[in-house]
Amino acid sequence: MSRRERRGRRLLRFLGPYLRPERRLIAGGFFAMFAEVAFRLLEPWPLKIVIDAVIVPGAAQSPGIVGLLALCALGVVGAAGLRALSSYLMTVCFSLAGTRAMNAVRADVFAHTLRLPLRFHTGIRSGDLINRLVSDVGKLRDVAVTAAMPLIGNVVTLAAMLVVMFVLDWRLGLIVAAALPVFLLHSRRASSRITDAARIQRSREGELAGSAGESFGAIKVVQAYTLEGELERGFARSNERELSEGVRATRLSAGLERWTDVLVGIATAAVLFVGGWSIVEGHLTPGELVVFVQYLKGAFKPMRDLAKYTGRIAKAAASGERIIDLVGTRSDLADLPGAHRMGRVDGAISFRRVSASYGDGEPALTDIDLEIAPGERIALVGHSGSGKSTLASLLLRLQDPVAGSVRIDGRDLRAYSLDSLRAGIAIVLQESVLFTGSIRENIRMGRPGATDEHVAWAAQVANVDEFADRLPGGLDTEVGERGETLSGGQRQRIAIARAVLRDARIVILDEATTGLDTTSAAAVREALERLCAGRTTLVVTHSPDDALACDRIVTLRQGRIVDVKESSHA
Ligand code: ADP
Ligand code: MG
Repeated sequence: MSRRERRGRRLLRFLGPYLRPERRLIAGGFFAMFAEVAFRLLEPWPLKIVIDAVIVPGAAQSPGIVGLLALCALGVVGAAGLRALSSYLMTVCFSLAGTRAMNAVRADVFAHTLRLPLRFHTGIRSGDLINRLVSDVGKLRDVAVTAAMPLIGNVVTLAAMLVVMFVLDWRLGLIVAAALPVFLLHSRRASSRITDAARIQRSREGELAGSAGESFGAIKVVQAYTLEGELERGFARSNERELSEGVRATRLSAGLERWTDVLVGIATAAVLFVGGWSIVEGHLTPGELVVFVQYLKGAFKPMRDLAKYTGRIAKAAASGERIIDLVGTRSDLADLPGAHRMGRVDGAISFRRVSASYGDGEPALTDIDLEIAPGERIALVGHSGSGKSTLASLLLRLQDPVAGSVRIDGRDLRAYSLDSLRAGIAIVLQESVLFTGSIRENIRMGRPGATDEHVAWAAQVANVDEFADRLPGGLDTEVGERGETLSGGQRQRIAIARAVLRDARIVILDEATTGLDTTSAAAVREALERLCAGRTTLVVTHSPDDALACDRIVTLRQGRIVDVKESSHA
């Protein structure tokens, strides 16, 4: 099995479950398609009857000629009308089935991607992901509906017409049949080259979307450092590379189409020559030759379309591969067999000989041993890059340790289901991210389904209402994308309200007060104090005051614990 066939099968296996629910629509589409083929086959026959009837000498005097002509005329109209209707029904059925199936694919791919581990997301640009999700899925759908299905219809038409042609005159049939293998061989070669070009083009497009997304995401830095020119040049370079691959794919598929035109011309010439001779010899009536030439045109139209579709299908195959690569990326954060919900825990945490790594380089954490009692407050200090955030990410299972085990209440984290584990931990980061929506909606993300009173209470605990009351819409004020319309301290307090609402036994503060000015830091500290009261807390901090407020201070250096000391306040 060639690489290409394997890929094709993988795509079909992936799409199968999505197409199955639409099988009625698809069956209806195929039924309409066969009807269409049948009417297409019938269409030229009235013409044959008329020609053969009128060229007979003295046809004008023959009785019933007018009736025959009228009947044939009616037949032409009838066949055309029914063919149009079948074709319409076929398109509707296939598009409906295709659109439904692909929307399900898109929803699933999005859901899958959201759950992929941090390691995956830090290694790929979000623009490229968006491109796969929106544009590659769309391409696959369009092609399935407008090329793959008609392609099947065309193959059926071609086969049926060949049979009729052989029955009419086997010598002419042979000529047409001889053209087929030539065409197939060539189109196979061309289409694999088109797929390659299309695959490169799609990945270039992904790069483009990635770099554009990055630029827009950092628009403040871009404008502040006047990086526009620099980024423009980079974009233009990628753009050009994308263009050249796109042109290559288009050129290849246009070449295949034109080449088929020439092949059709040669076959038609041969048929005319041999067919004309057959009439002279009396093997064939003129009407039959007309039907033959009509069929020839009819049969080669699908072949030309085949060439056209091959190009588009090859491009869609490239898109399909990109989607499958994404879906095939498995999350390595599997739960242990028999993992169960983590209910209310005491909040004892233990790290035993834990090491963590982001890849081949130096491990980010080495041999971490740390026992934290329920309700204890631990400060994590150390230079930037010493592994503090990594330690926190292990607790949330954003990644798993490469050695050792992390436990909550004495059980390995993998014994808890991922969702319930994360639901039991609240985290506040340095750069708190808000989503487009109101302040209230943003707070409610801490616990979807929380009542308005609950949200208002959390807002109060976290000192959000202090500034929200002064906003025109109060808690219902909309924040811009990523909360850019609020100050850092305000965003931070909303994030704290979110954590308060979560009511988790374990709280992680990863540099939650770093970079705030003194006044907003005070309001944030107060809110944090209330959030952490009575809970097991990990405080990653650079501030000596914050560290001293904890029960113990753990110092990390280059991924190792180098010092643990009781805080003097205890
Ligand atoms: P801290 O929070 O103490 O500043 P981190 O835990 O973020 O440190 O980082 C510890 C080490 O892991 C650093 O050497 C850093 O370069 C590396 N690291 C952190 N995040 C990633 C990542 N997503 N991919 C690869 N390496 C990472
Ligand atoms: Mg950090």
